[in-house]
Amino acid sequence: MSPGNLPKCDQGNLRETCDFSLRSTTCPICGPTAASQEIYPANFTVDHFVPEIFSARRTPDRVHYRIVRCSRCGLVRSDPIGNERLLTTLYSASRFQYGAETGDLKTTYGRYLRKLEKYHAGKGTLLEIGCGNGYLLEQALNDNYRVVVGVEPSREAVAAAAPQVKNRIVCDIMRPGLFEENQFDVVCMFQVLDHIAEPVPLLDECRKVLKPGGLVLAINHNIEAISARVLGPRSPILDIEHTFLFSRSTMRKLFESRGFLVEETGPVLNTYTLNYLLRLAPLPMPVKESVLRATHRLGVDSIRTTLPLGNLYLIGRVPRDYHITPRA
Ligand SMILES: [Zn+2]
Repeated sequence: MSPGNLPKCDQGNLRETCDFSLRSTTCPICGPTAASQEIYPANFTVDHFVPEIFSARRTPDRVHYRIVRCSRCGLVRSDPIGNERLLTTLYSASRFQYGAETGDLKTTYGRYLRKLEKYHAGKGTLLEIGCGNGYLLEQALNDNYRVVVGVEPSREAVAAAAPQVKNRIVCDIMRPGLFEENQFDVVCMFQVLDHIAEPVPLLDECRKVLKPGGLVLAINHNIEAISARVLGPRSPILDIEHTFLFSRSTMRKLFESRGFLVEETGPVLNTYTLNYLLRLAPLPMPVKESVLRATHRLGVDSIRTTLPLGNLYLIGRVPRDYHITPRA
């Protein structure tokens, strides 16, 4: 499917062609009847609805929707958020600006992909949802997965894919019917679940396309990480791109509520350059820019370090005897 089939507004003329109305969200674990409490009020304007702000790994600016916490399970979410048509338009037009970081992302996510071997992952077919330019698909081929497939809405990211994976990427959002049921050994989602408006249908679709016994690997920001607790309202994860901010407990509850067996959860060790860490730092933008220029001049901005900096991973499994209900 081409991105032309996605519902979207005219990106060249967003103001005139797009509806900027907001939609409410509900807790995907507890359902619409669960109450919630506001943690932070919204601080965005309509000018923030541009593709540059909805692009992966941009320099965070702490612009966010109203943020609430579910009174029942504790899941933190944005409420209300941009409507589906608007967000689909923004993600399909989002920029691919992290080419220099894909080596470190391969190192970080490859480390967790290899954790699946402990659970005897089948190495027939792997699907990555939100695969960007396909760097992890390349890593999976190096790790001897036989067939790799990606889904990515950003046309610019797909255009930047390496030749060996480019024709394995579908430029679309993950949705029912995109893939046959019961065909993947592994499904990966890195920094995806926190961006989408409706995690329940996405997880249900993952379960359907996985084979019985198949594994899912998800990595997200962790709202209970030390960095998020210390920085509080200054944390870079409070961001207009994030609908949900999970903890290990709420990630586990969400996957279990959709029929997955959770094998393990834990903090992620990320490999970063000094440049990327400084871009995340809670400093005023002019200070940040001068520090970035100085470290670049000194040639130290590409120094790498591996730290547990605020992400969490979950490995889940579709039960071997899971009954797949026929599509309606
Ligand atoms: Zn809840």
